[in-house]
Amino acid sequence: MALGSVPRKRLRVSTPPQPAAAAAAPPAAAAAPPRPPRKAALQHAGLRNLGNTCYLNAVLQVLLRCPRLQELLRQQAAAASAADTLLSDLSSTLELMATAPSSHSPSSLLERLRRQHPVFRGGGQHDAQELLRCLLLSVHEAWALRPGAERVAGSAGPSAAEQLFHGELVYTTRCLQCDGRRTRREGFSDLSLSVHHEQPLEWGLAQFFEAERLRSSEKYFCESCRACTEAVRTPRVRHAPPAEPQP
Ligand SMILES: [Zn+2]
Repeated sequence: MALGSVPRKRLRVSTPPQPAAAAAAPPAAAAAPPRPPRKAALQHAGLRNLGNTCYLNAVLQVLLRCPRLQELLRQQAAAASAADTLLSDLSSTLELMATAPSSHSPSSLLERLRRQHPVFRGGGQHDAQELLRCLLLSVHEAWALRPGAERVAGSAGPSAAEQLFHGELVYTTRCLQCDGRRTRREGFSDLSLSVHHEQPLEWGLAQFFEAERLRSSEKYFCESCRACTEAVRTPRVRHAPPAEPQP
């Protein structure tokens, strides 16, 4: 879902509190302001760049911050007994990242990824979002296709990808001619947000959920009017995925 054409809103930008004027500065003899607390030491191993693999490392760093993901992947990789799938490779890579004392090379995972998804072959740059979708799809398929899955369908629960990353959007479209409304549900595992330099993530989210006017070639076919009409379409989250990266 490309949203690059979504019109931008005027934003109200809040400014941080300004420092006191120099004349109001405390005398040199005054106690120095307390230092901000130091960040906790990094608890996870870094990842070696294997040549334009920052897209892979970026996704792995985010996944490592998702609570429960490692636990679910470990359980499902063992149950799937599929040593040749991305599910088990992803699980072991995240576990090594969490426990290795020094930097870790994700070469095994990368090799498996390139074997299963030829689009990632070669040494070029790739899209992190595309990679995330491939990984989640592979995790889901490995779980759904595990040995004996057909015998326990519906009893073993959804895959880790479904449990943690599946959400649902509802698009409400309102015809501007008859005011009739229709809704359409759509599952999602990620949102494609507009990126603008110096704008925070919240800005991209606000753009995504902004009402969109459908006109010209994008007119909406209204079944009540039996014609293509101008309309307003608004997305909202009906069900949010529980996976939240930890700070
Ligand atoms: Zn209508």
